Amino acid sequence: MRPPTVYMDHSATTRVDPRVVEAMLPYFTEQYGNPSSLYFLGQKAYQAIETARRTVATILNCVPREVIFTSCGTESDNLAIRGVALARQGQGKHLITTPLEHKAVLDTMHQLEREMGFEVTVLPVDERGMVHTEAVEQALRPDTILVSVMYANNEVGTIQPIAEISALLRDHPAIFHVDAVQAGGYLSLDVQRLGVDMLALSGHKFHAPKGVGMMFVRRGTPYVTTMTGGGQESNQRAGTQNVPYIVAFAKALEIAQTERERKNAHLAAMRDRLASSILASVPTARLTGHPTERLPGHASFTMGTGLEADAMLLGLDMEGIAASSGSACTSGRNAASHVLTAMGVRYEEALSALRLSLGDDNTMEEVEYVREKLPQVVQRLQTFIAA
Ligand code: PLP
Repeated sequence: MRPPTVYMDHSATTRVDPRVVEAMLPYFTEQYGNPSSLYFLGQKAYQAIETARRTVATILNCVPREVIFTSCGTESDNLAIRGVALARQGQGKHLITTPLEHKAVLDTMHQLEREMGFEVTVLPVDERGMVHTEAVEQALRPDTILVSVMYANNEVGTIQPIAEISALLRDHPAIFHVDAVQAGGYLSLDVQRLGVDMLALSGHKFHAPKGVGMMFVRRGTPYVTTMTGGGQESNQRAGTQNVPYIVAFAKALEIAQTERERKNAHLAAMRDRLASSILASVPTARLTGHPTERLPGHASFTMGTGLEADAMLLGLDMEGIAASSGSACTSGRNAASHVLTAMGVRYEEALSALRLSLGDDNTMEEVEYVREKLPQVVQRLQTFIAA
């Protein structure tokens, strides 16, 4: 019989919180009006969106007009980067980013380079997946119009010095964009303290449904929308808003940010127990990412040359453990992660990447179960490889 699932892939997605489901349900069948309609039902939907916008703005410490709802994190990154590139192409064509970014950032930048004559500088990073402010300083040019650095990495969990980088950029006209998709449930999102101009979030990473995101655009940021149509979201992102999902997004973010500190302590305790146990029981395992500056529930490793990620994931799945090799979008393809190779991990070793990302619905008992099963799965594979 299949064991019950121990879900340790919260960086890929999360279970929708029942409180969030409850908040969104009336907007499917009762308050189902189009928020652009003038009659009562439409205005109720409009009010729900504006209440959600105020909730998010309070958390971000910005004004509600700077909060633009989108369909996902990918869309938020795409709109922001392309929007600034279009608005500022007359002033410069140089973009800066890091090799750690999600493809939503990297592929958008590289398309701008290929199709529209922009030039992209990809910064060096250290072996812990950290971007150094000095590297940004060295890459900056008078024609740099946009710098994009993620808040926390999805594959190795490293948290970047965002406030430090924004301080450096204060005297430079470049716009600072931050992909905060992995940070939304765990770190402070105060955009004044962080000093960012644009920021992306995705609801499904913090217990809202898949298919809703948000983009913060600081007032005065040069931005041309690439989603044109009915003028919704103050002409910044056209398309009829997904009212129930926007309500869910705000509710989930509010819960995540209110309960953050208590939950982070619990997550870090589980993560540390899991990580130290795996490192002790599997001699070839190495922690990837920063040992301390990392997301509280994020444990990532290379398990040793020859141990293929997909084989480990299938072995773990047979024990009821849902884990990942890193980015959900690249697992299933037998290629080393671009993040790990940029950090200097050898290609063959990077093929053995394993990520266990905990959530607040995990328990210490589940951690104990994984501590027991994971070394057995690895040992079985090693015996198979040696045969
Ligand atoms: N950026 C980062 C860092 C991510 O981890 C992800 C998803 O894993 C995305 C962007 C894309 O977000 P979405 O799945 O909402 O499109």
